[in-house]
Amino acid sequence: MKKTILVLMMFTLILSLFSSESVENETNERVNLVVLTTGGTIAGKGTSETGSAYIAGKVSGNDLIEAVPELGHIAQITVEEISNVPSQDMSIDIWLKLAKRINELLNQDHCDGIVITHGTDTMEETAYFLNLTVHSNKPVVLTGSMRPSTSISADGDINLYNAVAVAASKASFGRGVLIVMNDAIYAARDATKFNTTNVDTFKNLNGGPVGYAHYGCISFYSSTEKAHTVDSVFDTSDLLQLPRIEIIYGYADSGSLFVNAAIEAGVDGLIFAGVGDGNGTIETLEALTSAAKKDITVVISSRTGSGMVYRNSEYDFDTYRFISANNLNAQKARILLMLSLTKTKDSHTIQQYFDHY
Ligand code: GLU
Repeated sequence: MKKTILVLMMFTLILSLFSSESVENETNERVNLVVLTTGGTIAGKGTSETGSAYIAGKVSGNDLIEAVPELGHIAQITVEEISNVPSQDMSIDIWLKLAKRINELLNQDHCDGIVITHGTDTMEETAYFLNLTVHSNKPVVLTGSMRPSTSISADGDINLYNAVAVAASKASFGRGVLIVMNDAIYAARDATKFNTTNVDTFKNLNGGPVGYAHYGCISFYSSTEKAHTVDSVFDTSDLLQLPRIEIIYGYADSGSLFVNAAIEAGVDGLIFAGVGDGNGTIETLEALTSAAKKDITVVISSRTGSGMVYRNSEYDFDTYRFISANNLNAQKARILLMLSLTKTKDSHTIQQYFDHY
């Protein structure tokens, strides 16, 4: 009798183990994900439990995964290192390598999605670049941490857990590249880092997150309206470099110094992060027009960080030969202009790209 009870108890235990896995992995199938590491705080160690300073490259990709054994309940994970840099050192070379590798992986049947670990400083730029250069409906999710793993209340493990859950979820298909940080899911185009140190540092300043991830439980509430991934015309697979675009910042009493320096340096395009809805002093705007007359493409964004730049609102974009960044911030406008100039120099077409992507 005792033996029967013991066998029954073991049977119940085994059953409960299986059912908890099926709760975590809603598909009930084995999902294969690849985690691509690029560096950042999530892969760093600090010297103190109460400081944000960290030494990059101290935690390998495999160590990151092994630190969260619960990931194994959600997906079968393999890890590859793409780079090992703090994200202020993210480069066009790494972006091109990343896009190429992701397209290769997602073309394979046995890869169901990608998670990228990344520093938060430039995560939004990498995410938007991939949003326009990865041509797949499978999930691509970026995550990172604001606190090193050695810190009190480190945020890396839970962010990684949520990012893996989002990448493993069928609900994430066709949504473009996503950023998962601090329990929120953002569309790559719309997310921006807006606080220097807070763990709640990502926001969509023109709207909100597209969903939430709570201990691996995923809820989507909206999606981005702009084209991405499979609907993008941009292809960087054969490119080794991208056009050179610099950003000029607007402020009271600004002059022509930096615009002239950029013209002199031979840039292909300029983003002007103007004051308000894209305004600048007469001197700066005239310098930008002389750049446009020299075949340098000029896109007007705003330093405010949110809201539309409407063409011809406070001055005539047609006369100045300027393009509006729509509501992209300056750093994202730079990425779209880099990609646009790989296709065309026609300002009408480039304006259409800015309104479409
Ligand atoms: N400088 C760091 C980076 O972006 C900031 C902290 C972080 O990793 O999020 O790599």
